[in-house]
Amino acid sequence: MATEAVHAGREDLAGQGLHAPPIDLSTTYPSYDSRGEAARIDAFAAEGADPEGPPIYGRLGNPTVARFETALARLEGTEAAVAFATGMAALSAVLLVRAAAGLRHVVAVRPLYGCSDHLLTAGLLGTEVTWTDPAGITDALRPDTGLVMVESPANPTLAELDLRAIAHACGSVPLLADNTFATPVLQRPAEQGARLVLHSATKYLGGHGDVMAGVVACDEELARGLRQVRFATGGVLHPLAGYLLLRGLATLPVRVRAASATAAELAGRLAADPRVARVRYPRLGGAMVAFEVHGDPHEVISRVRLVTPAVSLGSVDTLIQHPASISHRIVDADDRRGAGVSDRLLRMSVGLEDVEDLWSDLDAALGRRR
Ligand SMILES: *Cc1c(COP(=O)(O)O)cnc(C)c1O
Repeated sequence: MATEAVHAGREDLAGQGLHAPPIDLSTTYPSYDSRGEAARIDAFAAEGADPEGPPIYGRLGNPTVARFETALARLEGTEAAVAFATGMAALSAVLLVRAAAGLRHVVAVRPLYGCSDHLLTAGLLGTEVTWTDPAGITDALRPDTGLVMVESPANPTLAELDLRAIAHACGSVPLLADNTFATPVLQRPAEQGARLVLHSATKYLGGHGDVMAGVVACDEELARGLRQVRFATGGVLHPLAGYLLLRGLATLPVRVRAASATAAELAGRLAADPRVARVRYPRLGGAMVAFEVHGDPHEVISRVRLVTPAVSLGSVDTLIQHPASISHRIVDADDRRGAGVSDRLLRMSVGLEDVEDLWSDLDAALGRRR
């Protein structure tokens, strides 16, 4: 994993006399062979295969973005990966591919990231959702079910699911696992039977809070459909973002392991603290900690100084937010509470700062000892 993270997607560079990957900002590509281009566009329209040969137009594919896709597929252990402008654009493309095949029904397990929940609940893309717990998945499947969607560890409660058992329960319906929180460093859902692995690459893959992106790792058959939707709907990733993501992947294993060690330590200290009612930290590990305080969670947010009070996660710096107010605000309050997202829950994304500095900031933010 550590070696792949550094080298995947860069294999051709030394042969070209390059060290850093070039950033190709072209929107279009000259060609004197329009017959050849016609044949390649026909092949893409029929099959969705990445056009062979030189690029044609930025919305059809970009070499810098392709490097990131190659590397991420390698890390997730899938045949392919298809990158999008954001995580939500990636999820939209998956839903559209399935709906276009006449499979408009989605079975999903709460909690999901707030906007994923909203997209499914509102049916904005013409899909219909059935919410269930893992044990109810098989019974919820219909002839027109095109997708089963889960997150593990889930945003924001860090609830964990048995992906292998869920993949089994899905039968022939593709399982989509949102792997944003675990990253391929801690969990590779494709090995457990998920056919689609989704990332908000905005989070750990980018890793520095300065790039928005999404990506779906999957087999080549599904990737072809996703590329065709991306071409037709336009949610492409910018090449500069592709460059930053490839650079982010190189340090992903080191970042995730270091932040996870700090997160585990902080989770332990929070669990032993009388001001804290409950701590959730995944068995799998990871750099996310969720906890409920006895006092007012808004006061904790207002008192942090080193920790950044902001939504999002997976950056080099530690972030804290109140899901009921921000990341999951768009979910109906009863649905949110039913999914275990209480009004007292705080979600912290642990970064790379010194653990003692983080603890003294949290200790002060938690307020007077009871
Ligand atoms: C942030 C997030 C998303 C959405 O990703 P964007 O890049 O913000 O569109 C999806 N799933 C999870 C688990 C997330 O945390």
